Amino acid sequence: MASEILEGIKKTIVQRLPERVQVAKIEFEGPEVVIYTKNPEIITENGDLIRNLAKDLRKRIIIRSDKTVLLDPEKTIDKIHEIVPEEAQITNVSFDDVTCEVLIEAKKPGLVIGKYGTTSREVVKNTGWAPKILRTPPISSEIIERVRNTLKSRSKERKKILQNLGTKIHQGVKYENDWARLSSMGGFKEVGRSCMLLQTPNSRVMLDCGVNVAASDDKSSYPYLNVPEFSLSDLDAVIVSHAHLDHSGFLPYLYHYGYEGPIYCTTPTRDLMTLLQLDHIDIAHREDDPLPFNIKHVQKSIKHTITLDYGEVTDISPDIRLTLHNAGHILGSAMSHMHIGDGQHNMVYTGDFKYERSRLLEPATIRFPRAETVVMESTYGGHEDVQPSRNNAEKEMMRTIYNTLKRGGKVLIPVFAVGRAQELMIVLEEYMRHGMIEEVPIHIDGMIWEATAIHTARPEYLSKDLRDQIFHMGRNPFISDAFNKVQNINERQDIVEGEPSIILSTSGMLTGGNSVEYFKWLCENKNNTLIFVGYQSEGSLGRRIQKGWKNIPLKEEGKTKLYKVKMEIKTVEGFSGHSSRRQLMDYVKRLSPRPEKVIMCHGDAYKTMDLASSIHRSYKIETKTPLNLECTRIQ
Ligand SMILES: [Zn+2]
Repeated sequence: MASEILEGIKKTIVQRLPERVQVAKIEFEGPEVVIYTKNPEIITENGDLIRNLAKDLRKRIIIRSDKTVLLDPEKTIDKIHEIVPEEAQITNVSFDDVTCEVLIEAKKPGLVIGKYGTTSREVVKNTGWAPKILRTPPISSEIIERVRNTLKSRSKERKKILQNLGTKIHQGVKYENDWARLSSMGGFKEVGRSCMLLQTPNSRVMLDCGVNVAASDDKSSYPYLNVPEFSLSDLDAVIVSHAHLDHSGFLPYLYHYGYEGPIYCTTPTRDLMTLLQLDHIDIAHREDDPLPFNIKHVQKSIKHTITLDYGEVTDISPDIRLTLHNAGHILGSAMSHMHIGDGQHNMVYTGDFKYERSRLLEPATIRFPRAETVVMESTYGGHEDVQPSRNNAEKEMMRTIYNTLKRGGKVLIPVFAVGRAQELMIVLEEYMRHGMIEEVPIHIDGMIWEATAIHTARPEYLSKDLRDQIFHMGRNPFISDAFNKVQNINERQDIVEGEPSIILSTSGMLTGGNSVEYFKWLCENKNNTLIFVGYQSEGSLGRRIQKGWKNIPLKEEGKTKLYKVKMEIKTVEGFSGHSSRRQLMDYVKRLSPRPEKVIMCHGDAYKTMDLASSIHRSYKIETKTPLNLECTRIQ
């Protein structure tokens, strides 16, 4: 069957290419069609031809050179430096013999591509190597380097994986597509361990695979993978909405238990989830509570990840076509649109989303080609979940910071490393630059710095405002002098004993990490302030402090010590990466087309039900609020 589909595509391609083009071979690599040719320059010069072919075949097409026409690597490097203008600031050139690509890393990748791709085409024409152009981030990122090295060193294995996957995706449908169902495996009527399984007669696709970091026991930490309808060996694909651990934290476990299939997500999601997964393993190890997987399995996940841009339509199984859209929640966060069969049914899974422009990102997409079923988050779905406007939230935050600094105190803001931290960095930098708060050091602890570095590597995913600042005004707020990267424990000691300052540290819910250490140091001085800016889940230390607990027992050097909370405790609403109740309602109202069914996930039980009943009452749309382990027929 596979070869039939492949043969059909091969035939079309050969017919449509100009006769002078010598095709060496055509292969499937995962969802992509790769054409190996002895005259790559002819094809690259006919950009429209490939674009039209891709459109007609509904396939992504990659052009690579046949090995026989590749220029010697050393000469290629010289040629590249000759062709690419110096202002591009190339930092590294390396070669992938397996894919016949030359990897060009540069500070200004746009200049390596050139206007309408002219410069990169010159490279192909003169060297035969297909350029793969990567951005060298202005803040160097260990994770990005690690991911790039893994992909480079495992290129051969990866090609094999992609070829096998290509055969699987294109094997053709076996059964008529007359039903689709969704199993809730985690994160329904709760927040944490998001996971669900979409099944059709021909496919099994998992959406998200998270952990609940705030859970107190293993039973409620991980999704229900032991349900009878789920089997690792039958799984076609995993789609990851975004990097947060409650959506991506359990992925390495799948590889530990023998999953060999792909993960689909955006490039920032791949990099950010690698960062968070490695950190999670590290913390668990330090706390002597190891996870059921290790670094090797994170590495394996990277090898199996296929990254997609927003709007790129991709076949992920014989009967499901996936497109990712911006979700506005964190860098690279995506809504997954799944086109099932010949369009018999379309499902959108929102993941976590923000239906409002933030400093960092554009608001979530509301337009889809079709969407009969929408599975949406309901974190702030309760009618009491009113959030102040962004503007008011920022003002309140600045007032609190201003007062704390004035009385000589320090401000501790526990944040998720990814998302809120960068959002706050931009706000703080701007207010400080305009003299609205005193100029004091803003300490950025550990992992937040690395997450920020990843943001600087992918500016194309940022809001238009930020992109304009970075690309046109040459001012990147992330690399401002206002920020101090905290290097080690000694420096932390100096910070808590030193002058007034602002500290951004993980974890966001005080469930571990350095924010808890800072809290211990700072909580007994009434001049200091703790500001919560994000969701504090039930059971977390953050939630307890928020509720007003004044005596907190915490472990210190093996013993339990009682901490008296004297510092000011403040919750500033409005910085959330999640939509408020009003934004959730507005989102459903404005969705185009209007869905037939809305299934709620990612919210405490009563909020989920509150939102569901309001959507039903206001818009006359069928709603469902399944529990974990329930299965919903969607078609
Ligand atoms: Zn999230």
